[in-house]
Amino acid sequence: MFRLFLLFVLLAVSLYAVRLWRNGQITHTTRALKRNKNSKKMVPCEKCGLHIPENEAIKIGDSTFCSLEHAKPPG
Ligand SMILES: [Zn+2]
Repeated sequence: MFRLFLLFVLLAVSLYAVRLWRNGQITHTTRALKRNKNSKKMVPCEKCGLHIPENEAIKIGDSTFCSLEHAKPPG
């Protein structure tokens, strides 16, 4: 009888663990999707024309650049 009880407890714990794990996975996936959406917008570099994700671009006024090197004024 005690063994049956132990088995039941084990089952309940594993079910709880799986539920927790699934919840964690769902939040993780949602976060990843959101991140993808944010980085999907590409902007061209004013100097070399290279397209980079908007969140990685360097913005100066209305201009966007791929790197600090290209954001510097010539000369
Ligand atoms: Zn550039």
